[in-house]
Amino acid sequence: MLTVDIDSNSGFCAGVIRAIGKAEEYLNDPKGEKRLYSLGAIVHNDAELGRLADKGLVTIDKEDLQEMVDAQGEVLLIRAHGEPPQTYQTAERLGFSIIDCTCPVVLKLQERIREAYQKHSEEGKGQILIFGKIGHAEVLGLIGQTEGKAIVVENTMMLEDLIADGTIRLDIHTEVFSQTTKSPAEYSRLCARLEEEMARHNELSIERFKGRELLKINETICQQVATRHERLSKFAMEHDIIIFVSGKASSNGKVLCNLCKSLNIRTYHIDSTEDIKREWFRADDRVGVCGATSTPKWLLEDVAEHILDLNRYVPAWEEKFAESEKTDNQ
Ligand code: SF4
Repeated sequence: MLTVDIDSNSGFCAGVIRAIGKAEEYLNDPKGEKRLYSLGAIVHNDAELGRLADKGLVTIDKEDLQEMVDAQGEVLLIRAHGEPPQTYQTAERLGFSIIDCTCPVVLKLQERIREAYQKHSEEGKGQILIFGKIGHAEVLGLIGQTEGKAIVVENTMMLEDLIADGTIRLDIHTEVFSQTTKSPAEYSRLCARLEEEMARHNELSIERFKGRELLKINETICQQVATRHERLSKFAMEHDIIIFVSGKASSNGKVLCNLCKSLNIRTYHIDSTEDIKREWFRADDRVGVCGATSTPKWLLEDVAEHILDLNRYVPAWEEKFAESEKTDNQ
């Protein structure tokens, strides 16, 4: 018999819960205007965005913000990803009141990057590398702490290219930080590669290079994400088929879904119940339903229920086929 389990570690992370909680607090306030602008999607999930839009949340992008002339009396929500200092300046100039929902973990990371940048600027040398996705909102907020000077590296191949063309120098003080939602395994590989290249360039063994303190690696992946990687790996291996639920634009969703795919070839990435196909399932499958830090628990429950409903219904042609197989075997 087919069974369905929901990963108890999936669902919104603390940063997203906090941002949605603050938005709802404002939208539910009977004294409030009941219109709240969110700069970018508060969560990469269409169903949850629709629920909040019905309450009065209006999602705008950076271009909309630039085109505004006057926002006196309006309220702008900064989501958990955070923003660069310029965004706050623009919003204040326009007259917005700000509800700042930047996740405290991201705020701390911004502060560490700002301090590292100031230190390197005072010393007149040094570089900041950020392991992250180019153009991602959190990464833009992090680069903003360095007057746009930090170098973003998406993967090991890009690291090698940037070293080869001289963008990344191997002879100066270097500090590396990671976007909070990146894969811990990939970050370790990237840092190990950089360490190797810097040691070779400086004609030192790895041990002697470490002693020079030319490279500082900062552990900045969110602990909630890091533990999810471990637990999700186990969950993906314990099930016959994985249904991974998240918006296709979710960066964390892509990382976690790829992790599942690498461990369970029968992994399917879906946005909503409409994407689910009955032919994916076998009669005795143990199905695992899981998601990203932006996937609401209620959606995981809907998906699990939908899978059970689909598999409760056996089309007539399948019954006939099973009957004829039985007769043939007699
Ligand atoms: S993943 Fe971690 S750092 Fe990012 S918003 Fe969630 S709790 Fe904050």
